[in-house]
Amino acid sequence: MKRRQTRTDLVLTINCGSSSIKYKLFSFPEEKVISKGIVEHIGEKGHNISDHHAGMEYVLDRLIDDGIDLSDITAVGHRVVHGGEEFIEPTVISPRVVKKIRSLFSLAPLHNPANLEGIIACQNILKGKLQVAVFDTAFHSTIPDYAFTYALPYEYYKKYGIRRYGFHGTSHRYVSIIASKRLKKSVSKTNLITCHLGNGCSITAVKGGCSVDTSMGFTPLEGLVMGTRCGDIDPALVLFLQEKEGLASEEIDRILNKKSGLIGISQVSNDFRELIQARARGNKLARLAIEVFKYRILKYVGAYAMVLGRVDAIVFTGGIGENVKEIRDYVGKQAKKVISGQPKIMVIPTDEELMIARHTIKLVKSRRGR
Ligand code: AMP
Repeated sequence: MKRRQTRTDLVLTINCGSSSIKYKLFSFPEEKVISKGIVEHIGEKGHNISDHHAGMEYVLDRLIDDGIDLSDITAVGHRVVHGGEEFIEPTVISPRVVKKIRSLFSLAPLHNPANLEGIIACQNILKGKLQVAVFDTAFHSTIPDYAFTYALPYEYYKKYGIRRYGFHGTSHRYVSIIASKRLKKSVSKTNLITCHLGNGCSITAVKGGCSVDTSMGFTPLEGLVMGTRCGDIDPALVLFLQEKEGLASEEIDRILNKKSGLIGISQVSNDFRELIQARARGNKLARLAIEVFKYRILKYVGAYAMVLGRVDAIVFTGGIGENVKEIRDYVGKQAKKVISGQPKIMVIPTDEELMIARHTIKLVKSRRGR
């Protein structure tokens, strides 16, 4: 009997930051990484890659060096940080989508412009290839209005879209799928608390495969303590500091986003490994930073246990979540005491690129099937 040959597809994933491009090339259906890398220092003084277009040309040259024929690439999946309320699914990029991503610049001024530069560079260089946008906010589109609405005058939601959006959605979605598999339960019947603890940190309550609450809000500043971001604070502090220190809004923004969190408290580092070493040497502020960081996680896990009612597992991912057993033990010990059913504590390395590639190939197939 003649066997049907499975077609191999190559999917390139692109994650553009303001001065970097991370890429991975996957072959499907094997989901094998056949090339990957990062281009850094784009547009920085003393470095020769002037913009994202040049960066993308550099990426494609590396792929050619790896023996890839660029015409074999089926599609490109792009990470886009903010999809607003419009993009709740991975979306094939069209001129209308480009326009809409641009209109969301004011909601994500640090991220969406870089993401769009990568898209445009790819469209120009890899002409005719299907390009797909996968949004960090999309997984959180199922959060109900009572959880995403800030108690501010309602007109600001209408006027500016001020509400909680949540981020890291691709990571939370990926680990929740893997966790359900490990629990041998269908995703629709699994309740999870997923903790993404990296340089940025967020925590999500996932009910039956859907995000029902998450710690990041209108921007990635809200919620947990992070490497350099403060997470939750009393909003009146912003006004207080402005007045006492005579700071302009850009300076306040820099303090909250770049000078706070683990580095702000410890005055040592935003790198968790260095904090652990400093604490071992007896550094009191490094110890305090770790304690504040752990306690904020504990508080959110407790809140989300109440939101979910039943918790099958608490999942840890990201550089800190995967490597720092002390945090998992601290949360796990308390969870065992107070959350009924004794949720499992799991470590699942995240793979946002694989999730983006899977979304992309799904759209390729649905178009082929038309
Ligand atoms: P990510 O953004 O996911 O790459 O995570 C970065 C954070 O993970 C940094 O704070 C690192 O210090 C931390 N990290 C990575 N590896 C380890 C490790 N083996 N032990 C403790 N922290 C780690």
